[in-house]
Amino acid sequence: MSEIAGNATHPAVVAIDGPAGSGKSTIAKRLAEALGLEYLDTGAMYRAVTFAVLDGGIDPADETAVAALVGPLDIVVRGSGTVLVEGTDATEAIRTAEVNRNVSVVAAQAAVRTELVGRQRAWAKARGGGVLEGRDIGSAVFPDAMAKIYLTASPQVRAERRAHQIGQTDPAEIRAMADELARRDELDSTRAIDPLAQAEGAIRFDTSDLTIDEVVAELAVLVRARAAEVAADAGGDGG
Ligand code: C5P
Repeated sequence: MSEIAGNATHPAVVAIDGPAGSGKSTIAKRLAEALGLEYLDTGAMYRAVTFAVLDGGIDPADETAVAALVGPLDIVVRGSGTVLVEGTDATEAIRTAEVNRNVSVVAAQAAVRTELVGRQRAWAKARGGGVLEGRDIGSAVFPDAMAKIYLTASPQVRAERRAHQIGQTDPAEIRAMADELARRDELDSTRAIDPLAQAEGAIRFDTSDLTIDEVVAELAVLVRARAAEVAADAGGDGG
């Protein structure tokens, strides 16, 4: 049982949003562990759809074909990072350069967002809350989340982190990765539906000069304080 309980107005949801490479996944996972909550990587869901689209030979820009695919698509995203698409392990297949290039186009489509946002809400409801990480969790999926956090870091730091994860040391490659991140940020921030943006009431955290441990420790304090506020409110009108 988690120490974190929500109330009728504010479910025990911790929403973590931010651009690619801001440290969201690592931080969200570690924070969930610290708080005794489950963790959902919603980006992995958009990646899983993109993988299935490409694997099925569908044009990622063909909204009708993508909409037909996403409704019945069986996606499992585990807290461990394992991803299953139609029962087959796609943990690595969803992180290829080809998926990186196409995911923002797929994620911008209304049918895809409606389907996946519905699944994300159901996921949290079934667990009585959780830590969800993505681009629009605090702004669109759970605007009433108990705690909303917006993580950022400079583009150079973000590219270096990605490079480090995959053992890339070539400066030209790292510059190319920074360009790719900037391109994805631009697409994600300017799309019509649920663009990447700091949600109202979200706390902004620049992780450029902080270690993961420092960020997790600070956020845990913050979320616990917020949970105590929400618990104290539970006897009133819940708001
Ligand atoms: O977090 P990650 O970089 O794996 O996300 C991949 C892509 O999925 C993002 O660039 C964005 O286009 C999309 N996404 C989204 N909404 C979310 C999470 C991810 O549109 N909540």
